[in-house]
Amino acid sequence: MAPILANYHTHTPRCHHASGSEEEFVQAAIHCGYSILGFSDHTPWPFAGGFVSNCRMLPAQMDDYVATVRALQKKYAGQIRIYLGLEAEYFPAYLPWLAEQTKKYSLDYLIFGNHFCASEETGEYFGAATRPAQLEAYTEYAVKGMESGLYCCLAHPDLCLNHYPAFDATAERCLRRICETAARLHVPLEYNVLGEVRRMAEPHDHDLGYTHPNFWKIAAEYPIQAIVGCDAHDLAGIERAPRVLAVKQELRGMGIKVLDTLPGLGL
Ligand SMILES: [Zn+2]
Ligand SMILES: [Zn+2]
Repeated sequence: MAPILANYHTHTPRCHHASGSEEEFVQAAIHCGYSILGFSDHTPWPFAGGFVSNCRMLPAQMDDYVATVRALQKKYAGQIRIYLGLEAEYFPAYLPWLAEQTKKYSLDYLIFGNHFCASEETGEYFGAATRPAQLEAYTEYAVKGMESGLYCCLAHPDLCLNHYPAFDATAERCLRRICETAARLHVPLEYNVLGEVRRMAEPHDHDLGYTHPNFWKIAAEYPIQAIVGCDAHDLAGIERAPRVLAVKQELRGMGIKVLDTLPGLGL
């Protein structure tokens, strides 16, 4: 049997930092042999005070996002299983709104992208963390989010290492806490292929980058479940299918339990 290829982490141009139409993503996924493609664009939030984010759609764009993906689901039924979700942060003040949207649009899933502290208007971007206190905050929110039970996996679980200078004792302690929590609550951790690609493409003399090998060495010490995600912001992201398959083998070789599909989002 051919290995199962699934990707639940796909963006659309609505987030202002992705390219390629939804239909092009679907066709690329079929071409590359995926059986499952999940759209999980950066969620909108009903920000207070007229704040407009430059990295996500507006709430008013949800109708179009949902209609577009649902139409493709029908059009390509029989060729590929398409799921509709969102990548969302843990912003306590706006979670009731997110729950309403999830229900209103019957979204299939949420993935947890722990990008900002508490909210985007005031919170720091965790991908720019350079100080131990910021890693502690990242971990605090990662744990709270996983404990909420809202999300089907934690995307790029070591995003906080992106601009962090060294794999010090704080980094190790924080990442161990994330792994311990994920194992305890059965929240799959995503091996983020985009992070790996970025880490390899750029020199990291002064920071670590994310999807760091040290993180996955630590993760292998815990009974966690892993899912491999492309975090596709363009067609090239989808076309990394060979790497997705290779990563699954590598993680399994490390003794990590790798999921082919997320619970409730199978073939
Ligand atoms: Zn993005
Ligand atoms: Zn993403």
